[in-house]
Amino acid sequence: MTELEKRRSAAPVPSGWEYAPAPESRDIVRIEERYGHFVGGEWLEPRETYATIAPATEERLAEVGQATPEEVHAAIAAARGAFENGWSELPGSDRAKYLFRIARILQERSREFAVLESLNGGKPIKESRDVDLPLAAAHFFYYAGWADKLEYAFPNRRPRPIGVAGQIIPWNFPLLMLAWKIAPALAAGNTVVLKPAETTPLTALLFCDVVRQAELPAGVVNIVTGDGRAGAELVKGDVDKVAFTGSTEVGKAIQRELAGTGKKLTLELGGKAANIVFDDCALDQAVEGIVNGIYFNQGHVCCAGSRLFVQESIYEDVVKKLKRRMQTLRVGDPLDKNTDVGAINSRQQLDKIRELVASGEEEGAEIYQPPCRLPEKGYWFAPTVFTDVAQSYRIAQEEIFGPVLSVLTFRTPAEAVEKANNTPYGLSAGIWTEKGSRILWMAKRLRAGVVWANTYNRFDPASPFGGYKESGFGREGGRHGLEPYLEFE
Ligand code: NDP
Repeated sequence: MTELEKRRSAAPVPSGWEYAPAPESRDIVRIEERYGHFVGGEWLEPRETYATIAPATEERLAEVGQATPEEVHAAIAAARGAFENGWSELPGSDRAKYLFRIARILQERSREFAVLESLNGGKPIKESRDVDLPLAAAHFFYYAGWADKLEYAFPNRRPRPIGVAGQIIPWNFPLLMLAWKIAPALAAGNTVVLKPAETTPLTALLFCDVVRQAELPAGVVNIVTGDGRAGAELVKGDVDKVAFTGSTEVGKAIQRELAGTGKKLTLELGGKAANIVFDDCALDQAVEGIVNGIYFNQGHVCCAGSRLFVQESIYEDVVKKLKRRMQTLRVGDPLDKNTDVGAINSRQQLDKIRELVASGEEEGAEIYQPPCRLPEKGYWFAPTVFTDVAQSYRIAQEEIFGPVLSVLTFRTPAEAVEKANNTPYGLSAGIWTEKGSRILWMAKRLRAGVVWANTYNRFDPASPFGGYKESGFGREGGRHGLEPYLEFE
């Protein structure tokens, strides 16, 4: 043991320290008792409702609509009317003004949105404040810039809007996914009907207020809430394009439903990303990247670095440093500004995580969870790492969508590529090495839509995002993100 290591082990990490609570105030956001569907610029009184809760406390937050088929079709009709009666004919520079307005309003009201996002979804306020909200506004700014330049984006191809887009989004980044869907669709001259996830409808409903504030023409954006039945109805309805983000299983069902209908489709589905650490990397930086890759947003991230591949020569060191770093993660109240890991989004998701973690233990992997006190109410899961994992284990194969990391090893770059690609998914990957040539060699061979080098979970509206294989098809973000919303001559 070196002198430095001796001193470190004598001075334990400060896991016993008590941090003074630093809660963000809830007062900034006003939650209505009951919400309807936002159709044609008006609130439609819902026929059926359900309660949406705060996963951190199980507190009931509001009553929201469970859209019936008639309500979904009314929303589609409103979107069709708005498309035909002006929006699609509006000059791009006018559409851009609306998108700019929305972006500015999101910035102005960002604290309100961040608090609501953390309340309804369970994610730490520092993530909704510093990641979700700035990125959501950035997407509207970015696509506002394209709205009057479509001819330049696609020269000699005469781009035209396609009509009404039906958009279905998940619960892990509710407002950000809304922005990814709505901004390019509107920039391209389409109108939309969006269905947020059953467990996280509130920021999408607050967004309707932004739509009104920006004086967007009625019917251009319509929001219907409810569970998967509402989503399925939207897919079946009179829409010209479907954009879906969610599980591979539902993505496949949608693809089957749309086969032969001529409706356009983009799917952004699950992942089981490899985060690959070579022995020449900046180790402490890589450990931060590993932690960010899997514990960010409780691991509810389709591109989460959930399979860690470590070069054998540094395996012991990486695992030691990782466990030490995990001890400093603070799990708890999503509205506390000190919190690193918030609540699991729903009881159903918690059960799924528990089931997969139990399978990891049964199959023979070694589990480590840092000591941490979990709140008694609500849905919680401690940050978890599995070592001694074989590639065949379920925890190395299936998407857990929780704060659970599986560590595997490799010896050569070729072996790393082979193991990393050994998955039905292909959404993202990470590489940690100081050699630029190795980054390029690896990136060329990894079957993943996004490959990060010496960083992880970096997003930019100008950069396209999407998958290969069972992670879906089509790209969101960048100029590529406009294409699925356009027709060409
Ligand atoms: P789903 O795929 O069921 O949900 C995604 C969206 O689709 C939600 O709005 C959902 O509504 C809706 N939906 C559900 N069924 C249908 C249907 N038949 N037709 C049209 N829309 C439908 O994901 P889950 O929430 O059930 O999560 C299950 C797993 O999926 C997770 O554990 C994770 O592994 C993966 N997942 C991946 C995501 C990603 O970003 N790629 C995001 C979310 C989940 P409702 O909310 O009511 O179910």
